[in-house]
Amino acid sequence: MKNLILFGPPGSGKGTQAAKLVEKYGLLHISTGDLFRSEMSQDTPLGIEAKNFIAKGQLVPDEVTIGMLRNRVISNPDVPGYIFDGFPRNIAQCEALDELLAALNQDIHRLLMLEVADQEIITRILSRGQSSGRTDDNDPAIIQHRIDVYKSETMPVFGYYAEKGKAFKMDGIGTIQHIFEALCRSFDETT
Ligand code: AMP
Repeated sequence: MKNLILFGPPGSGKGTQAAKLVEKYGLLHISTGDLFRSEMSQDTPLGIEAKNFIAKGQLVPDEVTIGMLRNRVISNPDVPGYIFDGFPRNIAQCEALDELLAALNQDIHRLLMLEVADQEIITRILSRGQSSGRTDDNDPAIIQHRIDVYKSETMPVFGYYAEKGKAFKMDGIGTIQHIFEALCRSFDETT
């Protein structure tokens, strides 16, 4: 199995690239944001709990997020690997993911970060908000808060995997195909 973390700020194109990577490598895409939105649309207790945090652009508490992620991984063992998108978002989540994968005799092969400047992110998210129906994509103050949370809580995740020699930065500006090819080249280097 080859497991990838697709990393980067909100609006950096992780979802778009994950869909293309799934098509090419057959990996299972696990986006915690998508899982939360699905729970919210069904008004499950987990969705109801997550809703307030998401609406404010805050992280959902770790115990909720990690439990949901763990269920998704454990219930899908027969895949060629996982693409983690939007997870881990802090160091506690990194440690929980390590523990979960180690219990399954698995590991993270690579973390690829899509780098996009703040102003471009805000423009992209506001444009996505016009069609996504996501309330957290429509308010510039909430978007700015999500960027601030990314910088303060999530950026250390890069360092966590960089110390293991597994984290790489990629240019997140360019055509979808060009960025995809760069991601594939890097992912193909792993064994
Ligand atoms: P995303 O779709 O990845 O931008 O996530 C949307 C929102 O879901 C985030 O702003 C958080 O409120 C919540 N969320 C998604 N993934 C996580 C995570 N790993 N930890 C905590 N909250 C998360």
